Amino acid sequence: MALRAVAEVNLAAIERNAARVRERTGHHVRLCAVVKADGYGHGAVPVAQAAVRGGATALAVATAVEAVELRRAGFAVPILVLGAVSDEELPAAVAAGAELTVWDPAFIERMRGLAAHAPVAVGVHVKLDTGLGRLGTRSVDEALATIHAVLRSAPALRLVGVMTHFATADADLAFAGEQLERFRPFVAEARALATSDLTVHAANSAAILRLPDSHFDMVRAGIALYGGDPMNEDPARHGLEPALALRTYVAAIKPIAPGESVGYGRRFIAERPGRIATLPIGYGDGIVRALADNCDVLIGGRRHPLRGMVSMDNITVELGAEPAVELGQRATLIGADGSERQTAEEIARRIGTIGYEVLCGISRRVPRHYHYDGRPL
Ligand SMILES: *Cc1c(COP(=O)(O)O)cnc(C)c1O
Repeated sequence: MALRAVAEVNLAAIERNAARVRERTGHHVRLCAVVKADGYGHGAVPVAQAAVRGGATALAVATAVEAVELRRAGFAVPILVLGAVSDEELPAAVAAGAELTVWDPAFIERMRGLAAHAPVAVGVHVKLDTGLGRLGTRSVDEALATIHAVLRSAPALRLVGVMTHFATADADLAFAGEQLERFRPFVAEARALATSDLTVHAANSAAILRLPDSHFDMVRAGIALYGGDPMNEDPARHGLEPALALRTYVAAIKPIAPGESVGYGRRFIAERPGRIATLPIGYGDGIVRALADNCDVLIGGRRHPLRGMVSMDNITVELGAEPAVELGQRATLIGADGSERQTAEEIARRIGTIGYEVLCGISRRVPRHYHYDGRPL
């Protein structure tokens, strides 16, 4: 009997996607694998291992806790925390030997005392906000002042890199180009100030694919590693291979007569005789209610429409006249079945979001099973 719901993650696909990113950028550009939010729902540690096998030489996460988790798992490569780190979180990040994103001389002053007790110098990346309007400073002068503060704090602190992040690399390349032009003069000044090699980085997956001028010394690839499309279209356009398949199975089949209803609120009422299959996956697993009457499920290599409401633990699909579907048969929400496939991006478009959110939304209740092109690990 199949498991009720499982996310199958193909680590070979992640390895190949990493290698594809490296081909795209050229091998002189380093690859930093972004594995925040538990590797976009895939599982941070196995994904990071696969990315390193595929050529990544650095990892990035959003939080101090995520950095600690990776370090405990044994990774020796640099781990960059992309997000803000509070004073409370700082000791754990420093103890894990994580590198930090900084933009403010006052933060450097607060770090200095802590870093003095660290076994090795704490590496920092100074972030210029060139247009995303989130983290980083908008002021080149403040960014340069931050660099000076870091250099003054040697040997406790070490200037590792300078960075920025794009707002529209997935859409408006003109604005991304403007961000790049704001970044360049800062990069030149930073390089002139730096007393050792500086790693300059800006590109996310969209910029990796669409803005070769933004690759600098290193790129930060997230969604592309997982085989997702940053433009929310078909990842196959860029030769990316989705690594995750979300599957469940047919737990019950019953006939339905005209006028009979299915699920909460009687949202679906049959107009013709048919059959309804119940699949044990629901919003408790990350299949959001907005997908009610608005999603397909692949069974036996064919699409079947989700009917009625999504409940916490179950969904229902209409089987139609063909008798092929049987009890216990595998059903696929995300991934391929025979020649049919449904991407996270397709599901996302149906509900007005992006593939990233669909993948991150697969809940903890769904076990992740890892394989290597179908072979168990
Ligand atoms: C999440 C993130 C990335 C990766 O973005 P993708 O679009 O998934 O490639 C890169 N840089 C920063 C700062 C991020 O927060």
